[in-house]
Amino acid sequence: MAQDAAANRLTARQVIERIQKHVGVPWRSQTVDTFKAGDPDTPVTGVATTMMATYDVLQRAAAAGDNLIITHEPTFYGHLDETADLAKENDAVLSAKQAFIAEHHLVVWRFHDHWHARTPDGIQTGMIRALGWEKFRNPSDDHLFVIPETTLDQLASSIKQRLGIRTLRVVGDPAMRVTKLALNPGYPGFPSERHMLQRDDVEVLVMGEGLEWETIEYGADAAAEGKHKALVILGHIPSEQAGMEDCARWLKGFVNEVPVEFIATAEPFWPAK
Ligand SMILES: [Zn+2]
Repeated sequence: MAQDAAANRLTARQVIERIQKHVGVPWRSQTVDTFKAGDPDTPVTGVATTMMATYDVLQRAAAAGDNLIITHEPTFYGHLDETADLAKENDAVLSAKQAFIAEHHLVVWRFHDHWHARTPDGIQTGMIRALGWEKFRNPSDDHLFVIPETTLDQLASSIKQRLGIRTLRVVGDPAMRVTKLALNPGYPGFPSERHMLQRDDVEVLVMGEGLEWETIEYGADAAAEGKHKALVILGHIPSEQAGMEDCARWLKGFVNEVPVEFIATAEPFWPAK
């Protein structure tokens, strides 16, 4: 009897199979959307979606009774979650995280490529909602927006408040008057960020993170050359987080045997006084 009950319980693997069925885009053979830790056949007690499976998020998920963690970004400090080098170095941070996962029978699965590949992109949609920019959207490109005229300074403050960011950073003239924005969450890289800034219909690139000797230097040079360009740098986590909040809502549409919730990943930075 008890065995039958256990046999009927939804496993992590079954939740992922449902995601693959509902996501609406063909599942790729080359993808980072795979199990990163734990046994996929573990019966699920609760599902937590999150932006990044940090140690803090894992602790909060375990405390809430969630043992399947669906994370947008890596768990082990690199795009491919390769742990071999850290393990060879007997890295204490890695081993503490792995021990916590094992001790609490957690299963971690990454949901990155296909959540972005959906039409519309699940992350972009969540961020546009969180920013309140639906009405400013370019109907043919959900990366472009025209807002009522404001200053760079005011724009940055309103984004900071809206998304609750502690350490938002800005490159450019604070008094510059702006209406034309582009939104590039996450880390799309210098070519994609540069291509946005090259456009006549983009004055401000609102971005997740960029290398300081690539996009950031480029933005600083554009401003120093007197070009009407600026950067608003949200940080990677705040720039995509709302997309994983939407993901929890979406999952509830076809996972109802166990609780599904969003656990916000904390912004890692705090500003010095
Ligand atoms: Zn992303």
